[in-house]
Amino acid sequence: MKLADAALLRQKVLIAGHWQDAADGARMTVRNPASDAPVGHVPRCTEEDTAGAVEAAHKAFAGWRTQTAKARAQFLRRWFDLVLLHREELARIMVSEQGKPLAEARGEIDYAASFIDWFAGEARRINGEVMASPWADRRLFTLRQPVGVAALITPWNFPAAMLARKAAAALAAGCTVVAKPASQTPFTALALAELAQRAGLPAGVLNVITGEAATIGGVLTTHPLVSKLSFTGSTDVGKYLLARCAGSLKRVSLELGGNAPFIVFDDADLDAAVAGALASKFRNGGQTCVCANRVFVQAGVYDAFAGKFAPAVARLNAGEGLAPGVDIGPMISDSAVSRIESQVADALARGATVLAGGARHPRGGRFFQPTVLGDCTPAMALCRSETFGPVAPLIRFEREADALAMANDSEYGLAAYAYTRDLARAWRVAETLEYGMVGINTGLMSTAEASFGGMKQSGLGREGGLYGIDEYLETKSLALGGLA
Ligand code: NAP
Repeated sequence: MKLADAALLRQKVLIAGHWQDAADGARMTVRNPASDAPVGHVPRCTEEDTAGAVEAAHKAFAGWRTQTAKARAQFLRRWFDLVLLHREELARIMVSEQGKPLAEARGEIDYAASFIDWFAGEARRINGEVMASPWADRRLFTLRQPVGVAALITPWNFPAAMLARKAAAALAAGCTVVAKPASQTPFTALALAELAQRAGLPAGVLNVITGEAATIGGVLTTHPLVSKLSFTGSTDVGKYLLARCAGSLKRVSLELGGNAPFIVFDDADLDAAVAGALASKFRNGGQTCVCANRVFVQAGVYDAFAGKFAPAVARLNAGEGLAPGVDIGPMISDSAVSRIESQVADALARGATVLAGGARHPRGGRFFQPTVLGDCTPAMALCRSETFGPVAPLIRFEREADALAMANDSEYGLAAYAYTRDLARAWRVAETLEYGMVGINTGLMSTAEASFGGMKQSGLGREGGLYGIDEYLETKSLALGGLA
């Protein structure tokens, strides 16, 4: 890979301010999902390496927590500037390991940087309170203090944004960090760590390690010096990590899977709904946790919506992320393609019809055709669980209440969308949907200013927005006596 700044492709891990190999020298190969060609190698860290990173973070905590909020904000601001300065290299590193189209990768770098910018501001607003005391001789206060060492485990689908959203909040709060990126996409995280170092972050404040999930996760979830675990990934792994953290009662935040409903009512602006569904469903090849997974369309506009949506999907161009004019990259793995294929087969066997795509892409490899299936029902596998691929099932409904009941009939509760021009309905729908995030007349709603997170089995806690920093803060009560 040709990069203007070749030092950004780090093939070592960052522990205590030093770039190093695993203690035993073991490495893993990272491959480009579009071609399967090797991108590079990263260390396969041992339990000892992981414990070393935790100890380094713990050692750095005393100094970092006592920096002024302004100093932490200034560090984050320098990091933000460097991320934007190196936007192009970061985006190209991301495409090489993750596969998404370059334009989307650039957009993700901007989105990731926006969290660093946001939390640089939030660092200056970590305020306590003075309570009305019931005692004449005592005053009562609350102090807000960093929880300690935060372990961050992030997924492959947004290799920059998921790390930045957690790390910027943790660092702003005064926590120190041990981060483990997904094994498919470690280079983006390592490049962000390189830029954090260049921004002057003290040694040990941000450590990034790579390797086997079970080895590293085993230490991070049990080590007594880790106070907090923030995880983004699948619901099954999230539950497993939560159970492991129970032993030492760590604070845990979980951003897990989704099964987003996208509801188009008879009174919707259909062109806007088609544009919203395209953006929500097909961004990152359908591999986002907030992707529309079930598209409910009211009977009166079902044919009109399908008639506009399916041709628009059929025009989406699948290809290698760096090629011009590509809308959809490869799926992340062979098993992801197999899962999508089996969900489509299940739907077709149960009566669904193909309106666009419907099979693996003629390009072969990990490419799947952008697909729309008509006449789907909630019982089909692709409506019960996350597809995490470029397949949109259309489900016809008659009444608003039916759509809402089907939409809420899921163990997940991350994101939901609805299109309507009726203000009363918009409000009713927004209040009734059992989801942590609701978009009315928009298919995109994630931004640093809004809180991100799920209900039900989609997670615990919130990231970004006004509440994201709370996940890294303790509230301490202080009573000051002897004032009579
Ligand atoms: P995953 O298999 O759960 O992996 C996510 C991360 O957890 C990776 O870093 C992985 O490491 C690590 N991991 C896996 N098993 C572990 C273990 N036993 N101990 C410690 N760490 C472990 O999920 P994924 O397939 O990469 O990501 C897709 C899922 O993430 C989807 O369900 C999606 O909805 C969800 N997601 C949610 C959000 C949100 O904000 N709610 C955002 C994005 C994605 P390795 O890579 O080394 O295996």
